Amino acid sequence: MTVLVVNSGSSSIKFQLVEPEDGTAGATGLVEQIGETEGRVVLDLPGDESEKRLEIPDHAKGLQIAFDMLADAGVDLHDSVTAVGHRVVHGGEVFYRPTVVDDAVLKQIDELSSLAPLHNPPNVLGIEVARRQLPDVPHVAVFDTAFFHGLPAAASTYAIDRDTARQYGIRRYGFHGTSHEYVSQQVEKFLGREGLDQIVLHLGNGASASAIRAGEPIDTSMGLTPLEGLVMGTRSGDIDPGIVMHLRRSADMDVDAIDELLNRRSGLKGMSGINDFRALQQRIDGGDGDAALAYDVYIHRLRKYIGAYMVDLGHLDVIAFTAGVGENASQVRADALANLQGFGIEIDPERNAQRGKVARVISTDGSAVTVLVVPTNEELAIARATDALVSSR
Ligand code: ADP
Repeated sequence: MTVLVVNSGSSSIKFQLVEPEDGTAGATGLVEQIGETEGRVVLDLPGDESEKRLEIPDHAKGLQIAFDMLADAGVDLHDSVTAVGHRVVHGGEVFYRPTVVDDAVLKQIDELSSLAPLHNPPNVLGIEVARRQLPDVPHVAVFDTAFFHGLPAAASTYAIDRDTARQYGIRRYGFHGTSHEYVSQQVEKFLGREGLDQIVLHLGNGASASAIRAGEPIDTSMGLTPLEGLVMGTRSGDIDPGIVMHLRRSADMDVDAIDELLNRRSGLKGMSGINDFRALQQRIDGGDGDAALAYDVYIHRLRKYIGAYMVDLGHLDVIAFTAGVGENASQVRADALANLQGFGIEIDPERNAQRGKVARVISTDGSAVTVLVVPTNEELAIARATDALVSSR
């Protein structure tokens, strides 16, 4: 089995060839700046990297160029790929398991676009163009919401009029589910223990927290859309919904303008002008007050969720950090868990400072709660889900 994993965004397509059994990754590709005058295709094969800069008018052309480059490098996808796994952001109430894509499924995913207008349309486009390129193998959709489908009603229900909520599918769905599930499973494998109470903190450009009891999520920070919860690179996370009405009435902003404000001009970027965490840290070191405040707001929110989930769970074995910021920014980990010895949480500064691409413990031996850094691997998780579904048919 070789699974091609595709993650299609509004102006980019990422893909990777993965052997689900042993987890090895073959070629990795990135097509970006689709629709701009100069786009970029980057291919990363073991021991060989190539790049092309040219106009990429649309997703179909982008994928075609990338596949042609792969063929030139001696990788014929038509020969090697046995299935394609697609990351799909919103499965709504309809999809909570990996699902083989046919025309009807694709239409349903498209219909869920009202719940995820920024994400599902490019996911659908990615599936369409990949199906055209590789029509003879099964294509499987793996949903970001799926892991959280069974959230307890008290955690998934918004306290609004129940008829309105039902009519419009308004509930907390949760996202980054593939990562939260994968990381929590890796934690149990790594520690050789089962049935753990865990808080998983996925801190990348998007960021989310989850509370997991014995493999099942009981709460998560993202909601109807990936906008709720933690402070993110460009997204606000939690705000008073009254802000939306205030902007509508006082700033005469329409719904698209507010959507753009909260999704693209908020979070770290909104507060400091910068959404990349490394650049933010450099600004803080240079004495930038806005960057320092943005960082403080980020940490404050993160600590609030950690506290909430400790009480939610009632008992805690593990806190796991993952994704770009969680895996790399030791300062964030230290600040998120500072002064929590009274709650049985103590980070070892030396362990926390060590860098690496493998799972590792960063708490002290005496810490009642084990704190870990666990690299996420959503591509592998998608490849495995795809493989399992296709093999069982
Ligand atoms: P995405 O949500 O796009 O998958 P990632 O998980 O790749 O995002 O995380 C991207 C974020 O991780 C960026 O803000 C980036 O600055 C941050 N990051 C990556 N490496 C480091 C590092 N060494 N130190 C601090 N932040 C880092």
